[in-house]
Amino acid sequence: MPMTFRGDAGFDTSAVSTGGGGGGRGGAIAVGGGGIVTLLLVIASMIFGVDLTGLAPGDPISPQSQQQQQGEEVTGCTGEQANDPANVTCRMEGGADSMSRFWTETASAAGVEYQDPTVQLFDRQVQTGCGGATSAVGPFYCPPDQRIYLDETFFADMRDRFGAEGGNLAELYVLAHEWGHHVQNLTGQLQNVQQGDTGPQSSAVRSELQADCYAGAWIAGASQVRDDDGGAPVLIEPTREEISQAMDAAQTIGDDRLQEMSGGGSNPEGWTHGSSEQRMRWLENGMEGGVGACDTWSAPEV
Ligand SMILES: [Zn+2]
Repeated sequence: MPMTFRGDAGFDTSAVSTGGGGGGRGGAIAVGGGGIVTLLLVIASMIFGVDLTGLAPGDPISPQSQQQQQGEEVTGCTGEQANDPANVTCRMEGGADSMSRFWTETASAAGVEYQDPTVQLFDRQVQTGCGGATSAVGPFYCPPDQRIYLDETFFADMRDRFGAEGGNLAELYVLAHEWGHHVQNLTGQLQNVQQGDTGPQSSAVRSELQADCYAGAWIAGASQVRDDDGGAPVLIEPTREEISQAMDAAQTIGDDRLQEMSGGGSNPEGWTHGSSEQRMRWLENGMEGGVGACDTWSAPEV
């Protein structure tokens, strides 16, 4: 069994919940449907939350009133459970615990008033502070309700449909990327994204690459963050294989590769998340240089 988490680690986080939905404030997302090709395109364009991170000040937002539905909290998983390839729920809880510790420390050091997002695991469809969504949109972060929405079946899709190698750390990279959007939301960096701005050097791509870089910073730093009692970190230092699986996930969801898969040919001007090469490079930048290496906004070229 892969040893991502320390086997006897216990998690204590109220950040993860299952079922239901959150939110109740404004925001809107479009959810496509239809045939396989449409579905693939929708996933390709929305994977990792592109449309929502595009929410910027001044965007027309249609307010929706929604019933607040709180999910059930997931707590009390052990590291051993989180390491079980079949137990995505516990892995996400362990990841959330570790990311919470890492970002509480890192963001405070940078003078950012930090609070955790909520990780909302859902099944097929969910009501959010950004509107209704289905699994087809892939994992995403909704700024108005500060929740990360994730259908666990996405990871099987990532392997079976997109051909990623998979692996525990690869799955956690996905969560860490969305967590990165939350950090951008808290710092105000998310507001740099201009709606409809696409292409390899666009604000959309810079925002996504920064989220990848933040995920890399967490991967590198996670095994250094101690648990509540100052004991051993909940995450074991990732192996070479795990890191290569996380890189493989970043490669898998590059815009150029997804465009190729959907048969639409390469169209860099339509990129919203960055090419495979860009995504791998910024994930690596984060792993090597930490959060300080993640300024995609002032880099002349990303
Ligand atoms: Zn994203």
